Amino acid sequence: MTIIDGKALAIETRAAIRHKIEASHIRPGLAAVLVGNNPASKIYVNNKRKACDEVGIYSEACFLPEETSEADLLACIHRLNNDPKIHGILVQLPLPKPINERVVLDAVAPEKDVDGFHYVNVGKLVANEPGLRSCTPLGVIKLIQSTKVAIAGSHAVVMGRSNIVGKPTALLLLHEHATVTLCHSKTKDIAAVCRTADILVAAIGRPRFVTKEMIKEGAVVIDVGINRLPDGKIVGDVDFEAVAPHAAAITPVPGGVGPMTIAMLLQNTLQAAIWADERNGRG
Ligand code: NAP
Repeated sequence: MTIIDGKALAIETRAAIRHKIEASHIRPGLAAVLVGNNPASKIYVNNKRKACDEVGIYSEACFLPEETSEADLLACIHRLNNDPKIHGILVQLPLPKPINERVVLDAVAPEKDVDGFHYVNVGKLVANEPGLRSCTPLGVIKLIQSTKVAIAGSHAVVMGRSNIVGKPTALLLLHEHATVTLCHSKTKDIAAVCRTADILVAAIGRPRFVTKEMIKEGAVVIDVGINRLPDGKIVGDVDFEAVAPHAAAITPVPGGVGPMTIAMLLQNTLQAAIWADERNGRG
């Protein structure tokens, strides 16, 4: 059994991004937009900016007060859409209640939508056309690929059908030629479905839900879940200790999918900058 080291893979990916930037004339730029004073969101934004610094991506943050109106937020995004230094715009979710999240996400220029949440990018993902893909699902695919287990022809089971993790992960696996089953809270006998998986991706937000009885011997298990227990400990959706001996490869929590999500954000920002440079060259 292999424990897939997401931290090491993320460091490797970030080093490759840094080398690519150093060797080119492109200076990618990322803007993070945060509304309100959520301390966890502030930490996420600052971590992302630190990661940008390390690889040579210019970054800036727009910290807007909790009472910011939707119109003012849209004006900020509009300004960033028109700023040539900025190639990626990240709107930290959740947004305060009165603001319509969908309207805001769709206000980001699709070519700067490094989270892959804009409907244009969602459509491109469905159609399997080039576009910016969501970071966590991209990281999941890289982690599976790192095991050298073939995705093509495998049966992949994805637990969770959210727009930001479950659905895009299922589509990426489909485009990698897996046969995909997407499970959710209404799936009947989910344990039996999971037992048929060569590749199991758990993204349901239920601590240690996946037990060894739900695993096919030798499966690849990717745990996207981040759950805080009452004692403060962070655990995934998979009962790691029990499942690991039966898996061919498994990601830990923390240290699995999480670090790859940020690495993929940097990769998307670089990709957006390369595409912008190509468009400018053409124009
Ligand atoms: P979400 O929007 O709450 O969606 C959860 C999904 O899981 C829903 O589709 C739900 O089904 C399904 N589900 C819930 N309980 C279930 C059960 N008992 N059996 C089967 N399906 C069940 O969550 P999310 O945003 O996708 O996030 C999922 C987890 O990943 C969370 O722990 C989150 O913190 C973590 N996450 C991690 C990263 C990272 O970078 N590592 C990034 C994003 C999210 P229904 O649709 O039927 O309700």
